[in-house]
Amino acid sequence: MKFGGTSVGSVTSILSVKQIVESATEPVIVVVSALGGITDKLIHASEVAASGDASYEKEYRDIVNRHIEMVYTVIPAGEARAALLDQVNELLSELKDIFQGIHLIKDLSPKTSATIVSYGERLSSIIVATLIQDAVWYDSRQFIKTEKKHDKHILDSELTHRLVVETFGELPKVALVPGFIATDKHSGEVTNLGRGGSDYTASVIAAALNADSLEIWTDVDGFMTADPRVISTAYTINELSYVEAMELCNFGAKVVYPPTIYPVCHKNIPIRIRNTFNPEGAGTVIQQEVDCGSKAIKGISSINDTSLITVTGLGMVGVIGVNYRIFQALAQNGISVFMVSQASSENSTSIGVRNQDAALACEVLNEEFSKEIQMGEISPVSAEMNLATVAIVGENMKHTPGIAGKLFGTLGRNGISVIACAQGASETNISFVVEAKSLRKSLNVIHDSFFLSEYQVLNLFISGTGTVGGSLIEQIRNQQQKLMSERGLKLNVVGIANGHRALFDREGIDLTNYRERLEEQGIPSSPQVLHDEIVGMNIFNSVFVDCTASAEVAGLYKSLLDHSISVVAANKIAASSAYANYLELKQTALKRSVKFLFETNVGAGLPIINTINDLINSGDKILKIEAVLSGTLNYIFNKISAEVPFSQTIHLAQEERYSEPDPRIDLSGKDVIRKLVILAREAGYCLEQEDVEKHLFVPNDFFDGPLDAFWQKVPSLDADFEARRQKLESEGKRWRFVAKLENGQGSVALQEVDSKHPFYGLEGSNNIILLTTERYKEYPMMIQGYGAGASVTAAGVFADIMSIANI
Ligand code: ADP
Ligand code: ASP
Ligand code: MG
Repeated sequence: MKFGGTSVGSVTSILSVKQIVESATEPVIVVVSALGGITDKLIHASEVAASGDASYEKEYRDIVNRHIEMVYTVIPAGEARAALLDQVNELLSELKDIFQGIHLIKDLSPKTSATIVSYGERLSSIIVATLIQDAVWYDSRQFIKTEKKHDKHILDSELTHRLVVETFGELPKVALVPGFIATDKHSGEVTNLGRGGSDYTASVIAAALNADSLEIWTDVDGFMTADPRVISTAYTINELSYVEAMELCNFGAKVVYPPTIYPVCHKNIPIRIRNTFNPEGAGTVIQQEVDCGSKAIKGISSINDTSLITVTGLGMVGVIGVNYRIFQALAQNGISVFMVSQASSENSTSIGVRNQDAALACEVLNEEFSKEIQMGEISPVSAEMNLATVAIVGENMKHTPGIAGKLFGTLGRNGISVIACAQGASETNISFVVEAKSLRKSLNVIHDSFFLSEYQVLNLFISGTGTVGGSLIEQIRNQQQKLMSERGLKLNVVGIANGHRALFDREGIDLTNYRERLEEQGIPSSPQVLHDEIVGMNIFNSVFVDCTASAEVAGLYKSLLDHSISVVAANKIAASSAYANYLELKQTALKRSVKFLFETNVGAGLPIINTINDLINSGDKILKIEAVLSGTLNYIFNKISAEVPFSQTIHLAQEERYSEPDPRIDLSGKDVIRKLVILAREAGYCLEQEDVEKHLFVPNDFFDGPLDAFWQKVPSLDADFEARRQKLESEGKRWRFVAKLENGQGSVALQEVDSKHPFYGLEGSNNIILLTTERYKEYPMMIQGYGAGASVTAAGVFADIMSIANI
C-alpha cells in the first residue's frame, strides 16, 4: 500500500491511513511519501539558502512546525511520542545544519539536494510508523539502489530485487517504508527515484515479493478519464489495462508515476488506485485483462512542457541512416524523446522533447548534421517551444475506423490547429502537438466529444441583459433541464455582460441569480474587455450571443468568428453594415466552420431569413419582396385615431417596448431599411442602405439633434396627420409602411392600402412578408405574425442557438 503526500498531509487523512492499514487482514508493506507539499518546500528552501538569502529560515521553520504539530496531534502523549520526538528533532536539526551550510557556501550540489529532499520521506515514515500499531520501520536506503547513467540516477533493478527479497524474508504484520529515497549502489550516497517516485518504490517492492496487489492510495477516486483539475466532468475509470495505464501515465496523468507500471505488469500483479478520503470507493484496477467497455477511448492525458524539433531538408529523402543519426545523437546526450512523427515523403522528422532539453537537442543535431547543413541538404535545426502534447488512449481504438477523424474533426471545428501528430501501429494511442495556449480547450473538446456523448455542451456568452437578453436568459433557464434530459444538450452560459458589468465563469453561471452576481462579482465591462475575456477563455463549442444594439459590440464579430466562436446576433448592425463587411463575416464563419446567424434581425422570431435561405439553397430565385417589417410603425399606424394623435402613438410604442431604444431609428425608416438590406442580401442581391429609396412621413430635420428636442417637436405634426387620417378613413384605406425589393432595387414608403390588399388587416405590431419567387409566382409565399416583442425575439435568438447545437 502506497500513501501519497496528500494521504499523509493532514491530520484527518493520516488518521484515515491508520485505519485503512490496521484493518488489513494480511501482512502489508506500507510505503509513504513526504507530508504533502514538503518535498517542494525542501527544494525551495535549499534554493533560497544557496542564493545567500536568509529567508530560507522561515521555510525551514514551516517544515519544523508541520512535523512537530503533526506528532503532537496524532500521537498520544507518552513514551512513544517522546521517542518519536527525539528522532524527529534529531533529523530536523541535521537538516538545519545542512541548510546553514549551503547558505554559507552558497552552493547546492545535486548530491546535497538529494540529501535534503530525503528528509521529507524519512520524517513522514517514522511518524506513520509510530502511529500505526505494530508497524516495523525499514530504511529503504538500504535496499533501493540506483546507479548513475547519463547524469541520472536509475534504479538497479536486479540488485534492488535481491536486497528487497533478503530484507523482507520474514514479513511483520505492517512494514513501514519511506518511498522515493534510495542510495547509489557504489558510493552509498543518498539518491532518489525522481519526483513522484514513491509509487515506484512501492511497485518495485510489490514485484520483488510477488505481492497479491499494489494499492496506490491518493486523493482522487481513481484513475480518471482526464486530469480532474482541468476537466471538471472527468470521471473515474473502473478498469485499465497495463498498456493503457502506461500510455496515460507517460503522457502526464500525474496520478501514477510512469515507471511504476512495468515492474508489477511484468509479474501480473494488479494495481488498484484508491482514495484515502473515500476508502469505500471502488477505485480503479489496472491489470492485464480488462473489460474494454463501450467507449472508443479510455482516457486523455497531456504534457504542456513540449518543444518540437524538426529536422527537414530535401537532402533527407531516401537517404538511409538519417533517423539513426538523429536518435543516436540525442541518446548520447541523454535527451529523452517522447514523440516522433515522420512524413512518408521522408523529408522531415519532428521530435517532441521537453522544453528544458530543446536547446541542447538543437545544438547536438546541428553539430551532427553540420556537413549536410553546410551543403544545404538539411536546414538548420531549430525548436518550436512552449507547445503541448495530448494523447488519447484506449485499446478499443484498435481496428476501429473513424477515431482519428473524430479527433481531428473536433479540434478543427474548434479552431485548434494540430502542429504534429503520431499514431503507432499498435493503435492504442494517438498523440498530437498543439500550442500550449490551446491545451485546456483541446482537452475539453476531446473529453466532451469522446466521453460525454450522452450530452453535448454549448458554451454561451450573452451580451446584453435588457429586454431581449433578459428574456433570453429566462427562457434558457426554463429550458436547461429539459434540453439536458430530452435533447442531451447542455446549454452552459459562461459569460453575461451588459454595458456596465461582465461576468465570466467557465463552469457555467447559475441563471437564477445572475443579476446579483453580475453586480457583485462582475468586472467593469467594455467591448474590448468582452473580446479579450472571451478569446482568452478559449472555450470550446462557444457561441457569442449579441442582444445589444451596439455598433462596437457588432465590431467584435469578425475577430470572434476568426477564433472559431459562432455568433448569434439580434443586433442588426453587422448584417446591415457595408456589404463588404457583411460578406467578410459570412466568409469568415464559413472558413472557420462556425455559424453567423441573425434570424431575428428581420421579423423578430418569424422564420424569414431561414425560409429565404431554404428557397435559395434548393434552387429557387427571389424575384420580389414586399413587406411590413416594422412592428413599431405598424403599431403606430394601427393605433392612430381621432382620440390618439400621432405623437401619442410613438410614446405608446415605446411603452410597449416595440420601438428601438431611440424611436427615431424606426420613424426615419432606418430600421426598415436595415431589414430590407439584410433580406435583399440573403436573397442574393448586393444592396447597401444608401441604395434604398426612401419616402418618409416625418420631415428630415426632425431626426437631427438630441432626442429631447425630437419629443418636443413631434406634436407639431399631429394636426396634419389627423387631417390626412380622416381623408384616408373616408376612402376605406389604411397606412402601411412598406419595404419593397424588386429587380434588385429597394425602396421604403408609407403606402395607402385598401381592404383588398393583404397588408390591410395586419394587426398590432405584426409583420408580414410576401415572397414572390420563381416557384411562388402567382401566389406569393406569405409569412405573418408578431414582428416585435422581447419574448418572441428572444425565442428567435434561442432557435438560432439551437440550430448551432444541431450541427
Ligand atoms: P500523491 O501525492 O497521492 O502521489 P499526486 O498529486 O502525485 O498524488 O497524484 C494525484 C493527482 O493526480 C490528483 O489529485 C489529480 O489532480 C492528478 N491527476 C492528473 N491526471 C489524473 C488522472 N487522469 N486521473 C486521476 N488523477 C489525475
Ligand atoms: N515526495 C516525493 C515527491 O513529492 C515523492 C512522492 O511523493 O512520490 O516527489
Ligand atoms: Mg504521486
